[in-house]
Formats: sequence, structure tokens, C-alpha cells
Amino acid sequence: MSDKNYLAWPFFAPRHAALEQALDAWAAQHVAGAHTDDVDAACRQLVRQLGEGGWLRHAIGGVAYGGTGDSIDTRAICLIRETLARHNGLADFAFAMQGLGSGAISLFGSEANRAAYLPRVARGDAIAAFALSEPQAGSDVAAMQCQATRDGEHYVLNGEKTWISNGGIADFYVVFARTGEQPGARGISAFIVDADTPGLTIAERINVIAPHPLARLRFSDCRVPVGQRLGEAGQGFKVAMATLDVFRTSVAAAALGFARRALDEALQRATQRQMFGQVLADFQLTQAKLADMATGIDTSALLTYRAAWQRDQGGKVTKEAAMAKLHATETAQQVIDAALQMFGGLGVVSGQVVENLYREIRALRIYEGASEVQQLIIARELLKEG
Ligand SMILES: Cc1cc2nc3c(=O)[nH]c(=O)nc-3n(C[C@H](O)[C@H](O)[C@H](O)COP(=O)(O)OP(=O)(O)OC[C@H]3O[C@@H](n4cnc5c(N)ncnc54)[C@H](O)[C@@H]3O)c2cc1C
Repeated sequence: MSDKNYLAWPFFAPRHAALEQALDAWAAQHVAGAHTDDVDAACRQLVRQLGEGGWLRHAIGGVAYGGTGDSIDTRAICLIRETLARHNGLADFAFAMQGLGSGAISLFGSEANRAAYLPRVARGDAIAAFALSEPQAGSDVAAMQCQATRDGEHYVLNGEKTWISNGGIADFYVVFARTGEQPGARGISAFIVDADTPGLTIAERINVIAPHPLARLRFSDCRVPVGQRLGEAGQGFKVAMATLDVFRTSVAAAALGFARRALDEALQRATQRQMFGQVLADFQLTQAKLADMATGIDTSALLTYRAAWQRDQGGKVTKEAAMAKLHATETAQQVIDAALQMFGGLGVVSGQVVENLYREIRALRIYEGASEVQQLIIARELLKEG
């Protein structure tokens, strides 16, 4: 079991250590090792369980709507994601998407929007999704083509969104579409679209290496009331970036949780596996690997909780969040690969914990800004400072 000394770091308040301990015990009882071939059903159940356990209250902002605070406590969501990822990748996904999918409502929703959606998200009664990417607009978000045309008291949406997590099981989607006030990033608006709105269909379900509900959405003359717009017309890019800014550091935290689990597994295996008259951990080559894994994990944790703490102090965290996401996801990939290697043939057997982690970690280096995009963000901030 990973040591928990880091919870005494100055980044945390006493409530954070208590939160981690309570969730760790809850997750061990409720979600550890849960496995099913029906990923949609598993995800729905996890959202319900996380709601019943009270954990989703941390994913929204606004005490009046069931949140634990009026703004999202970044350190809390990072600890929750790290802990859930250590126990079950799909549980982490279910928590993260409730936050990311409703984040724009917490930050920019009208009173009516927040009252209509946030309490259901916090209870686990409504599943949320965030629909930004398109087939021709992934890293280059501003290239989006999905259109929203004003028609009286409605907007009419036409176009496609792809790689949408929770696509197919979500109760509502926060959708970004071009409203054309100005060219590029300044002509986009954000909308809440209920899943049963006529004109919104699931064009394709997408299977990925670590199964999660994922889909391509199609909008064909999909009419959305003006009251469902989040923020001002033309401000959608700002809405998207502000939402991602809250949750980017938590991707680093999830990677950290996967890496910690891999190190736990590796330590257990290395101290038990007999070979050449000793155990695997007796070899210095193994010890060097374990040392690198532990050092990588601690640097990831330091960067992650520095960014989370800084955000909770009200500071700007563009560079720090990018550093945390870049370092923690890339390092977790290396840590998990090293752990799998220690398992030998057993490491690639379907259903083994390290095999599962190996598949779970991969997409984190791509979504919410690929590693190369994070490098560009860090360099841009450095050059601005310089
Ligand atoms: C499992 C999964 C879940 C996702 N969930 C969601 C979701 O819920 N909502 C949503 O809106 N989107 C989601 N996405 C989409 C995700 O955000 C995009 O995949 C990501 O932004 C990359 O876009 P792309 O796939 O079009 O790749 P591209 O933009 O084509 O980029 C391909 C690669 O090019 C490289 N690259 C990018 N920019 C540069 C550069 N400037 N210089 C050099 N190299 C560069 C990177 O290595 C990148 O991986 C998800 C993706 C995955 C895989």
C-alpha cells in the first residue's frame, strides 16, 4: 500500500487528509475490482453509487445546489480522482465526467440552469458530458465547424461532435458551437443540450482500449432555447477553457493514482517472485527501477498538488497545471510499463491489474490537451514571463 505521508504536505488542510481516508475506505468497499462487460451499465451504477456516497457533491460548485462549497476545491477533486483511480479507472472516469460535464454550468450557468442541473449531477441522478471536440477540430479547437444559428428564442444546432465521453448514456451535453459573432475562437458559444432533444442523435459508439462510454454525436436542426446558452454569445471558447482549467490538474491526479497502484503491484510482485535462488526485488536492476518509479511518482504528486493548491489560493495556474498534466501522465505511462515488465508474461494477461492500468493510462496523454499541447502552453507562458 502506498505511503500516505504526502497528505501531511503543506499543500493540504486537515479536511483533505480526512477526505482521502474516508474515500479510500469507501472505494475499497464499493468499487474496488468491480468489473463488467457492460460498460454503460457499470458507468450508470458508478455514478449512482458516487452520488449516494456524497462524493459527487465535490464535483459541482454551489452549496445551494448540493455542492460542498461555492467554488470547486481543486485539491479535493484531485485527491478524489487519485484515490478512485487507484481502486478502479471507471470510477475515476464517472466522477471526472460529472465534474467536467457540469463544470461550465457551475461556472457560467444562470440561476435557472444551475438549479435545473447541478443538484441532479451532485446526487448522481443525471449523467453529464462535455462536447467540444470534432472530427476536424481536436487540438485545434478553434477550427470547430458545428453551427448554432439564432432563430427567435432558439438556437438551431447542426454538425458533429466526436470522442464525447459519456456519449450515449449522458442525460445532457454541454455543447460548443459556432455562432459567428467574430471569426475563429471569438465566434463560439456554449449550450446545455438535453439528450432527448429532437435532432440530437448518437451517430456512432466508439470502442477504445480502456472501455468507457464514448460516442460521436450528430446535430440535425436541433433546437435549443436561448436560456440554455452558458455565458454570453461568442464567449464559448472562454467557457471551454475556464472549465478545462479547473479540471486539467485533476487529469494529472488520476495519472498519479494509476502510477501509485502500479508501484504497489510491482513491490508486491518483486518481493514474492522467486528466481535464480532469490526474489526479483533482491536484484539491483529491479531496485533501480523501483527507485525511478517512486521518484517519478513523488515529482508528479508535488507538481499536481502545487497546481491544485495554487488554484485554490486564487492564483493563475496555466503553466503549473500544464506542467502537472504533462509530467504526471508521461511518468505514469513509464511507471506502469516498468511494473508490467516486472510481471513478465503475467503482465500482459487480460484482467491483470497491471494490464488494465497499461490500457487505462494511454488516453490521458491525449485528451484535455495532448502532451505536445501542454509543452507549447508551458513554453508560451515562459516566453511571456521572460
Ligand atoms: C478516451 C478519450 C476521451 C475523450 N473525451 C472527450 C470528451 O469528453 N469531450 C471532448 O470534447 N473531447 C474528448 N476527447 C477528445 C480529445 O480531447 C482529443 O482527442 C484531443 O484534443 C486531441 O485531438 P485529436 O484526437 O483530434 O488529435 P489531433 O488534434 O489530430 O492531434 C494528434 C496529435 O498531434 C500532436 N499535436 C497536437 N498539436 C501539436 C502541435 N502543436 N505540435 C506538434 N504536435 C502536436 C499530439 O501528439 C496529438 O496527439 C477524448 C479523447 C479520448 C481519446
